[in-house]
Amino acid sequence: MSQTDAPARLVVLAGPTAVGKGTVAGVIRDDHPDVWISVSATTRAPRPGEVDGVHYHFVTDAEFDEMIAQGALLEWAVVHKSARYGTPRGPVEEALAQGRPALLEIDLQGARQVKATMPEALFVFLAPPSWEELVRRLVGRGTEGERERERRLETARGELAAEAEFDTTIVNHEVHDAAQELVTLMKAQ
Ligand code: 5GP
Repeated sequence: MSQTDAPARLVVLAGPTAVGKGTVAGVIRDDHPDVWISVSATTRAPRPGEVDGVHYHFVTDAEFDEMIAQGALLEWAVVHKSARYGTPRGPVEEALAQGRPALLEIDLQGARQVKATMPEALFVFLAPPSWEELVRRLVGRGTEGERERERRLETARGELAAEAEFDTTIVNHEVHDAAQELVTLMKAQ
């Protein structure tokens, strides 16, 4: 479907771990209030400074189970083999019905699920400036053992290969530039 077919467009931003998806989404949240950003549900605990209902809906395992059972999630996945994360369906549908550009910042597994159910969405891959830079961001502090480092790099290789599944790529050289590029793309219809 071309960008002019739909009154409002769902945009899915995904990419490898540590590429800076969350930071790009945070800049858009702060600087572009006209863009609607989905607030995911998660079973992980809030980090310092995170606000329930703003950064995530922090829910219990039982509440997450209930959301799945009711079909209330557009997609969901276990991320980093720890917590569950999912996109509440209703708010996305409301935003699109209101004609607001809507953004999901989710992991690759989630992006694939949305592609299966909403192929008309625009899938944007956020890429690192280079493999070396991604390695630096992933294992930079060097506090992990050799085995963990190898595991992360192996995962990153697989995640980078997913770029081919996406409609377009934005390279995250600098977070504000990447955010601006994404917003321009979202509004170009
Ligand atoms: P964090 O715990 O650091 O905020 O996020 C960890 C990962 O979860 C990130 O890769 C982020 O893209 C992903 N994530 C956040 N919300 C969702 C969601 O609703 N669905 C999926 N599939 N992944 C999500």
